[in-house]
This record gives sequence, C-alpha cells and structure tokens, in this order.
Amino acid sequence: MSTLTIKNLHVQVETNDGPKPILKGVDLSIDSREIHAIMGPNGSGKSTLAYSIAGHPEYEVTDGEVLLDGANLLEMSVDERARAGLFLAMQYPVEVPGVTVANFLRTAKTALDGQAPKVRQWVGEVDAAMERLRMDSSFSERDVNTGFSGGEKKRFEILQMELLKPRFAVLDETDSGLDVDALRVVSEGVNRLHGSSDAGFLLITHYTRILRYIKPSHVHVFVDGRVAEQGGPDLADRLEEEGYDRFLS
Ligand code: ADP
Ligand code: MG
Ligand code: MG
Repeated sequence: MSTLTIKNLHVQVETNDGPKPILKGVDLSIDSREIHAIMGPNGSGKSTLAYSIAGHPEYEVTDGEVLLDGANLLEMSVDERARAGLFLAMQYPVEVPGVTVANFLRTAKTALDGQAPKVRQWVGEVDAAMERLRMDSSFSERDVNTGFSGGEKKRFEILQMELLKPRFAVLDETDSGLDVDALRVVSEGVNRLHGSSDAGFLLITHYTRILRYIKPSHVHVFVDGRVAEQGGPDLADRLEEEGYDRFLS
C-alpha cells in the first residue's frame, strides 16, 4: 500500500503586488485505492494544490510537506515525481503543436519505464484504451491538444492516465465542461483504473455532478486555501443541496 501525505502545505505565487499566499495550511492523506474528492468554489486554490503537488515552478512552497511513502516529493523534479508514480490531469491541458498523440504517449511511457515499450504490444494497448474511451483511431496522428474540443482534451488526459497507470492520480476538474456522454466515458476510465489497480485518486471538482458516476470514499470541502470540512460521501450530497454558501460567510 502507498500513501500520499500533504502536511500543513503553504504555497504562494509572485504577483505584480508582491507575493500572494494561496494555500494556507493544507492537510490531507490519501491511501492506495481511496478516492478523495476535493470540492470548492472557484478561486479557492484547488488548481494551486494540484500544481504544487505536481511541481509547477510558479507555485512556491513556503511551508509544509508532500510525501509519497515518506519520500519528499517537493525535493523532486517534475519528471522524478512522475516516475515516483504521480499523475496530474490538468484543468486546462496544454497544446503541443508538432507532437502527435502517438509520439507523446510513447515518449511518456519510455520516460517512465526507462526503456521503450515493445511496439506491437504498446500499439495494441493504446488502440484498446482509445476504443474504450470512444476516441477515433485517427486521433493518434493529431497534434497533442491542438484544436481538440474540451471533451477531447479531457478524454486524452484519461487516456494518458489509463496507459501510464500511476500510483496516485490528481484529476483537476476533469469533469468541467463535459456533456453527459463524455462525463460518463471519463468517469468509466477512472473507475476502470480504480477497479484494476491500487491507484489512489484526488478528484478535484467544482460540481457534484461527477460524483453520481464516481463514488468518493472521502470528501473535503476546500475554501480559501485550506480544507474547511471533511466527511464521507454524504458530505457531497449535502453540498449538492446546500451549495458552498454555508462555508463562505
Ligand atoms: P481554483 O482552482 O480553486 O479555482 P486557483 O488555484 O486556480 O483556484 O486560484 C486560487 C487563487 O490564486 C485565485 O485567486 C487565483 O487568481 C490566484 N492565482 C492562481 N495562480 C496564480 C498565478 N499564477 N498568479 C497570480 N494569481 C494566481
Ligand atoms: Mg477555477
Ligand atoms: Mg482550478
């Protein structure tokens, strides 16, 4: 079993008006096979938490720790974190003109494993995963995220996750902007990895809608840079009825 532990995490960004604190003491611990939902209003720092775990250089950690089985993630480079088993599905996936989906996936797999995958087996895995996510096979020759619709970008994030099989997956608003069909396909991808591996999940979302398809074991309400309340799945039901107003006064 693995554990991802976030302790008293404080993070700031540099702005024109000087440093701006965003995360103000986040505590969170996720075990293998658990699905934690972080729910919170816009601007509460959810993406900042995701970026800080993944190692985005703009986000400066001023206090606290992020540990994966006791190893300090904050001392690792972005690719060391990936090799340690961390995966981030970004809220706004980046376009990479000139790099095809097929190339990107093979390069990522090679970097993770330290050796290139066997071509025929890998192509088979990619094709099967794309079919499950209902992505047309022509997709693999398109440039990464370039001209993709919102739904295609999110499916591609889930495709990467399913193929790279992380120990911990952080999914930042992978549900936002999806129609019901795409939401179902994306949720099935998460549930498949959950059912077939020991991965732990941090599912960041603004809306309760995705929690009809993915059942979290733990729910955290995130407000103004910290966890304001924690609970089980029933907390998500209450948020669906009451919204975030209660936490914002
Ligand atoms: P959420 O994902 O919950 O909507 P974010 O983490 O994106 O929240 O942002 C939290 C707050 O930090 C917001 O007020 C946002 O404007 C600010 N912020 C985030 N990143 C930066 C940045 N790079 N520069 C300046 N402000 C930022
Ligand atoms: Mg936001
Ligand atoms: Mg965000």
